[in-house]
Amino acid sequence: MSLVTDSAVWRPFTQHALQPGAFKIARAEGAWLEAEDGTRFLDAISSWWVITHGHRHPAIMQAIREETERLDQIIFAGFTHEPAEALARRLVTLTPPGLDYVFYSDSGSTCVEVAIKMALGFWRNRNDARSRVIALEYGYHGDTIGTMSAGARSPFNAPYEPLLYEVTRIPFPMRGREQQTLDALARACRDKPAALLVEPLILGAGGMLMYGADTLAEMRRICAHYGVLFIADEVMTGFGRTGTLFACEQADVIPDIACYAKGLTGGALPLAVTMCKSEIFEAHLSQDRARAFFHSSSYTANPIACAAALANLDVWATGEPAARVAALCDMQATRIARFADDARFSNARRLGIITALDLNVAQSGYLASVSLDLMRFFNERGLLLRPLGPTIYVFPPYCVEDAELDLAYEAIGDAADRFGRG
Ligand SMILES: *Cc1c(COP(=O)(O)O)cnc(C)c1O
Repeated sequence: MSLVTDSAVWRPFTQHALQPGAFKIARAEGAWLEAEDGTRFLDAISSWWVITHGHRHPAIMQAIREETERLDQIIFAGFTHEPAEALARRLVTLTPPGLDYVFYSDSGSTCVEVAIKMALGFWRNRNDARSRVIALEYGYHGDTIGTMSAGARSPFNAPYEPLLYEVTRIPFPMRGREQQTLDALARACRDKPAALLVEPLILGAGGMLMYGADTLAEMRRICAHYGVLFIADEVMTGFGRTGTLFACEQADVIPDIACYAKGLTGGALPLAVTMCKSEIFEAHLSQDRARAFFHSSSYTANPIACAAALANLDVWATGEPAARVAALCDMQATRIARFADDARFSNARRLGIITALDLNVAQSGYLASVSLDLMRFFNERGLLLRPLGPTIYVFPPYCVEDAELDLAYEAIGDAADRFGRG
């Protein structure tokens, strides 16, 4: 296998002493990655949740090629370009009504940082300085200091703990215990916090934990009641993952601020947006320059990335992805159902195109060594699956076919025989 071990690259979320190698991928197509020596991997986690339709969607690749004939990066303060203007107009019509302004950046973490800064700027400019953020237990919002602070405390961020700011943490709405979450939120809202930051319907990195649309709607209602800003982190859930284009649609929730990133370009190029209601934008309008919104990424609104995103929205406009997503929801539902009463697993669950189940093992937590064993086992079977601790999840691109999905679930069953305890 094309396993690169002699490399100058320091890889993300990798313990190099235990995971010394990386597969060198030479080509990607549809749901598949192909290594230099021809070894193939079914990309059953959409390359960490970014690929939507499949790798190298032809229309998106074509749009990228065409845009490179016209523009590369240009400064975005005082200057603009058609891909960014057109994309902003399209996003305003596509996202929940009222999200009328689009701020560009280049990663999920950054667009969530921007959302938090927008919220604090909003309150400060209204002379009601508020800085406290409310966040969910097990939440994940990125890996910068600001977003790690809002995320759950875990081995991921223990070394940086001294730099992390305090947030008001409310319990995850476990099934049957939703009222505890809502009560805790209402209590927290009385202390005049700036905002609630949530991943709608499913907490991704926290272990693919799912909760109901009614709870999401109720959280939104409580924030509105107390005048607390509601920020939806749709970085993972956006662009079809939960069965609808955006997760908030399922709860008829209109956030005050929403963050989109991973699927925005179909996974082809890095691009992110933070969208907000006009009152947030208008709170920053003043004759006083100090009240402006002070944030910029060097690659703000990269024209090539914007062109890729526009092509992606054109693909969605054909209706094909929505049909593929609906079909994939059914494909996933029948497969995960077979594990519902399987004693080797707990909590077989599905939301949209995402399924997850917890392998019953002695250890728990993300650092459980079983996850490395599982990863290796899946890789040897030609599968890219990356369990979160003992939680195995399947998060395929929309082009995946029945027989390909079967490969993943057969391997999951075999992995349980090998590594499970039940
Ligand atoms: C991945 C993710 C982020 C961070 O996105 P990056 O592009 O990796 O910085 C933020 N929020 C959620 C919910 C995510 O899943």
